[in-house]
Amino acid sequence: MRLLQTCGFLFIILTIVFISLAIIFAFRTPTTPTVWDRSQKVILLGFDGLGMDNIASVDTPNLDAIMQQGVYAAVQIDPNSYSSGPNWAGMLTGHTTETSGISNNDCVKPAHETLFDMVPSAVFSQWSGIKCYSDNITRYYGDYQRRNLNMTTILDIMTGNESFVFLHVDILDHESHTNGSSSPYYKAALTDLDSILPHIQDFVNENNATLIISADHGSDQTGYGHSWGRVPIIIYGKNAHTLRLARSGRNRDVFSYIVQLLER
Ligand SMILES: [Zn+2]
Repeated sequence: MRLLQTCGFLFIILTIVFISLAIIFAFRTPTTPTVWDRSQKVILLGFDGLGMDNIASVDTPNLDAIMQQGVYAAVQIDPNSYSSGPNWAGMLTGHTTETSGISNNDCVKPAHETLFDMVPSAVFSQWSGIKCYSDNITRYYGDYQRRNLNMTTILDIMTGNESFVFLHVDILDHESHTNGSSSPYYKAALTDLDSILPHIQDFVNENNATLIISADHGSDQTGYGHSWGRVPIIIYGKNAHTLRLARSGRNRDVFSYIVQLLER
């Protein structure tokens, strides 16, 4: 009799556990990215090592035209770090080093969801650290040669049906560390990048998309390293003028602008 009672009790407990687990699985947060509206495409063009000072030192007619036709602000970078990792993680999560969990260039996941976890994303990156930040990048193309910036590849990455496209360009940071950002090499690299902007701009116009150009940090014009100087946030295309850019903002505000654009 006692055995029967024990078996019955165990059966009830197991039934409760089973039902509880079924409820938890039925209502758990989906791990697949949330699709907002695929007609909204936002392209983040991230220039590693491009500060406002660096832009001012080189003739960039196409970048200037995009700034004039869109909206822009010169913003500060992460308050605690001028390394690439914390600043890209800031733009992808909206958090500073205090809360993002990213305080250097180590390959670790941020403590918060990135844009890659929130919407289907296509990524072209010339720094392998970017793919450390999420397992949910829909399409990833890594080009670590730095000089092989290929417009065909960029067009291919932009052309998918992903809502968010991140194009990370490393050549300026590479030239600043190798030759200095006052060198003809850095300036030639920026001139080259300026020449591809009309192609990206055409794509944005034809696809009713929005383009954001920003940077993780500037490049010190008196040496070979990073700078704490302000960097641009330039927004061009569909809905750009509906955003109010914080003049005293930070580069991590890019996260909130992208979320706002994707929700429109
Ligand atoms: Zn660097």
